[in-house]
Amino acid sequence: MIIQPKVRGFICTTAHPAGCAANVHEQIGYVHEQNGYAHEQNGYAHEQNDYAHEQNDYVQANKTNRNGPKNVLVIGCSNGYGLASRITSAFGFGANTLGVMFEKEPSERRPASAGWYNTVALEKAAQQQGLFAKALNMDAFSTEAKTMVIEEIKANMGKIDLVVYSLGAPRRKDPVSGEVYSSTLKPIGQQVTRKNLNTDTKVVADITLEPASDAEIFNTVKVMGGEDWELWIEALLDADVLAPGAKTTAYTYIGKELTWPIYGGATIGKAKEDLDRASSAIGARLSSTVQGQSFVSVLKALVTQSSSAIPVMPLYISALYKVMKEEGTHEGCIEQIFGLMFHQLYSGQALNLDDNGRIRMDDNELKDSVQQKVAALWAQVNTENLSEVTDFNGYQEEFFRLFGFGFASVDYAAEVDPIV
Ligand code: NAD
Repeated sequence: MIIQPKVRGFICTTAHPAGCAANVHEQIGYVHEQNGYAHEQNGYAHEQNDYAHEQNDYVQANKTNRNGPKNVLVIGCSNGYGLASRITSAFGFGANTLGVMFEKEPSERRPASAGWYNTVALEKAAQQQGLFAKALNMDAFSTEAKTMVIEEIKANMGKIDLVVYSLGAPRRKDPVSGEVYSSTLKPIGQQVTRKNLNTDTKVVADITLEPASDAEIFNTVKVMGGEDWELWIEALLDADVLAPGAKTTAYTYIGKELTWPIYGGATIGKAKEDLDRASSAIGARLSSTVQGQSFVSVLKALVTQSSSAIPVMPLYISALYKVMKEEGTHEGCIEQIFGLMFHQLYSGQALNLDDNGRIRMDDNELKDSVQQKVAALWAQVNTENLSEVTDFNGYQEEFFRLFGFGFASVDYAAEVDPIV
């Protein structure tokens, strides 16, 4: 079939297998480059023996050189920050990786979701380097997923030394009561009116968001808070599959004034606050059992399937990209996560922690000078000048790349088999 982008609202309902593979290969290339490895240009000649051997030597060398994780579990492994975490673990540290994801399989009539194709490409590249790489396509909130992951670790991996919790989910079925909770993206306490960009119609207009009810706040914390992260760590501890010194991190966003009313101070922010509570509890459990540690890592705002669904964020991100690209400090998922793992978690040096013990990777975004420039663009932007005032073109480009569209190496007019 010929696969073209089909956008509905803030989501693209198609994905291109070759484009998603190109996206993953680019990220692998970045990690290799950063790691001082001269990644072969045009380098997807995996079939060629010499390339495969070189890669193998590289991975072997890394396994011994780096004091990084050897067995990594990524919960939410197929897109965005979780995908970058898996790529950095496998290709930066030579780690075996096990992932959990919730993706749509391909059929003769419909392409798979992007995360499916990302995962196939990642695992092929990892396996060619002699690394164990597997993902379970199931609901990470379920007890079954935890049981299956533990079986897989026992059968095929060593004990886990890093657990990354990177879910972006709209709902959660409670594993005990069976009740389904849905998250809401609403302000707390009072109505908020804010400039907003409809990425589909490209219209900039005010939207008014009504405040969340107590039940909506509670439900959002149930979905995006720390309860499930704690259940994962308890299950892994119970099964004795965490290595001595094991670390875990969950990802959060904080932001400043511009996004506060719809993120930090809103329902999603409440859920993220709960991650701090969970991290303290998990840290105490890990330190008293396996001498392990737990961190919440604060990452910068960027285009992912999850962030594109949050009101106001696409406009903020378009303005932020403009400013950070001009300043030369723009980063995507892979740059952020490579920095988190190599310069923070496994640098062997003191971590850059804030007063709440969180790891900060958002310093450049939150600088006053950057926020002031974003605020100035924000004040000017309207439907007519959107592309000049902000980097909406860059936003869109990156959005389509999430689904495997816009890669020069891919012929989008050609027939492609959706089943991979
Ligand atoms: P994403 O949409 O790109 O990826 C979400 C991942 O979760 C996918 O791999 C998906 O398959 C998986 N998933 C969703 N529901 C699942 C389920 N029920 N079972 C198993 N897997 C499931 O999201 P993202 O933007 O990378 O977000 C990941 C984390 O990073 C979130 O906690 C988010 O708040 C945080 N974060 C995001 C940003 C941002 O700007 N995008 C910034 C800072 C922090």
